[in-house]
Amino acid sequence: MADADTATAADERTVRLQVAAARQEESGQGIARMPRSAFQALGITEGDTVEITGKRATVAIAMAAYDEDQSLDVIRLDGLQRGNAEVGSGEHVHVTAAQSRPATRVVFAPAQREMRLQGPAQALKRNFFRKPLTAGDLVATTGQQPVQNMPPEVRRMFNSPAYALTQIRLSVVSTTPKGIVHIDEDTEVELRAEFEAPRDARAVVNYDDVGGIDDTIQQLREMVELPLRYPELFTRLGVDPPKGVLLHGPPGTGKTRLAQAVANESDANFFTINGPEIMGSGYGESEKRLREVFEEATRSAPAIVFIDEIDSIAPKRDKVPGEAEKRLVAQLLTLMDGLEARSNLVVIAATNRPDAIDEALRRPGRFDREIVIGVPDEKGRREILGIHTRGMPLGDKVDLTELAKATYGFVGADIAALAREAAIDAVRRIMPKIDLDERTIPPEVLDELCVTREDFLSALKR
Ligand code: ADP
Repeated sequence: MADADTATAADERTVRLQVAAARQEESGQGIARMPRSAFQALGITEGDTVEITGKRATVAIAMAAYDEDQSLDVIRLDGLQRGNAEVGSGEHVHVTAAQSRPATRVVFAPAQREMRLQGPAQALKRNFFRKPLTAGDLVATTGQQPVQNMPPEVRRMFNSPAYALTQIRLSVVSTTPKGIVHIDEDTEVELRAEFEAPRDARAVVNYDDVGGIDDTIQQLREMVELPLRYPELFTRLGVDPPKGVLLHGPPGTGKTRLAQAVANESDANFFTINGPEIMGSGYGESEKRLREVFEEATRSAPAIVFIDEIDSIAPKRDKVPGEAEKRLVAQLLTLMDGLEARSNLVVIAATNRPDAIDEALRRPGRFDREIVIGVPDEKGRREILGIHTRGMPLGDKVDLTELAKATYGFVGADIAALAREAAIDAVRRIMPKIDLDERTIPPEVLDELCVTREDFLSALKR
């Protein structure tokens, strides 16, 4: 009796904490870092399950905060967890102690298109063993995703598109019983073949997926996420949020990925316009297409329109020979001016040639904010390496700090390619052990799959 009473009392204890982003390397592990004071208040210890409630409730394993966070009332959550709790960084959640029950059955579905798991149920069971889960959540695991530009010999070996190792995201479709559960020896685990559109777009790209540009993320959050999330804040202050932000930096530094992450983290719809592509349309078509995207985005606000390579649609008008280009610049200006200040729509444009775009675009009320994204430094490269090797089984000798030093001058896209190349080498090594007539790879062979220091070093030489 006394026990039951204590349990009830404990269940009612709640702490309110402010959400901050998890460290990149811990993203996807399902843990929540909280200060010691919160553990005491909840009467729990490290490794216990907690329920975290924002606009929605999710579960996590409680871990101690980093030393520098101990005095702050902060809970660190990764992008998927923020999506699961439906909160943004800086907002508050309520945390309570929770108990998970063993599940008799758990059903997962891929939350990303073009994704395949090998030896699915076994691998999932192992990855999620004893971790708390709840239906509707998005979770991350190791899996295999098709790789573009596969060397033909590897593709041939696979008989189907080849897959390299990377972290993948899954939806927890249902659990029996309902509520908070965990997988144990007796749980039946099913992985649906069909893609299930995730409830939250953070499954696809979120802030954890862009590395080495924390300052930029912060700036863009203030300029874009804040006004999209809390338009009333700006109305109240009587200031107009920015309509247009210009991102400039070399190709492959993550501009597109960042714009998409901001849209997803702001719960905004995302529309892309590709400069060179839209230029290629027929007479009058380009302007029409531009207008259509703006109309559609306005209807689906809050929204972000992302214009990639804006220099190709809005070059300096005195430098362009054709009428078509001039009309397109004019159309874009009209559309920007026509946007109501409080339409809850932000246009983000990217270019690597900021000096090549028409100056009229940079006047107040148009693209009047600028953010520069540079080539990452060593620390940034280390972070990006962490992102692109997330979910990869790495050999003991792999040292990401060493690789960060060795990749001077690399941008994010180069680092992504390096990680992909190294993974392909690892796959190539296990190929002889695979019976190509079999549709699936035996789990013991997959267990051997490991990307080594040599794989990275030889990929570097290419
Ligand atoms: P940009 O728009 O600046 O040309 P993208 O966002 O299209 O660059 O980047 C291309 C790819 O390179 C991304 O999909 C991602 O895999 C990788 N990448 C680039 N920058 C970063 C970054 N800062 N962090 C993580 N990955 C990155």
